[in-house]
Amino acid sequence: MLTDTYKLQGKRKQLVQELKNLGITSQKVLSAIEQVPRHFFFPEDFIDKAYDNIAFPIEEGQTISQPYTVAAQTQLLDIQKGDKVLEIGTGSGYQAAILKVLGADVYSIETIETLHLNAKALFKKLGLSIATILGDGSKGLPELAPFDKIILTAAAPKLVESLTKQLKIGGKLVAPVGNLDVQKMILVERHGDNEYNKTSHGKFNFVPLTGTHGWPL
Ligand code: SAM
Repeated sequence: MLTDTYKLQGKRKQLVQELKNLGITSQKVLSAIEQVPRHFFFPEDFIDKAYDNIAFPIEEGQTISQPYTVAAQTQLLDIQKGDKVLEIGTGSGYQAAILKVLGADVYSIETIETLHLNAKALFKKLGLSIATILGDGSKGLPELAPFDKIILTAAAPKLVESLTKQLKIGGKLVAPVGNLDVQKMILVERHGDNEYNKTSHGKFNFVPLTGTHGWPL
């Protein structure tokens, strides 16, 4: 359903309050969550669940990330207007839309064709200018690198240098890294050619990253 209603707007406001209570402090991120109708990216038959703070199944056995997770990853990235951002795992397209509303220049790569095509068509309908790419994002997107920010929205077994090398100096990458049950949210900040700072920001649970640097299917 691509119409917004007072009721759904009200639910979005409540969700924003819930995210604040859970420790999200970035006003910019909270305001993007309030602006972007998550139900546009949600399975149509379950729209009443679109503003619950839960991940939810979409097609092809994948998920739309939990709003708290989207907010936490976006806050860590500290998006500035004009940032060139690579998202790995387009999925429903919701996270990409949040990045776009924050003023980023978004490149989003997805490995499952149906999801890639659905998101591409939805962005077009919504007038969101987001570059969508079908391919294996575990290798990043070397032909369009370097990026100011990189976000992985699927669980990576490890952080590979071929990805962190695609960051500009001063850039940030955020990725859930761990096993298939639980991952740590890792923030990598690139300070120099071979100078990276890594910090850990809580535990999460994502669907697996597949492909060359992901988990075997
Ligand atoms: N960002 C999404 C959203 O806002 O709905 C949530 C993404 S879902 C948790 C993870 C996505 O990563 C799935 O759509 C999955 O197909 C995709 N994925 C997994 N491995 C990938 C890879 N190697 N390259 C690109 N996408 C990948």
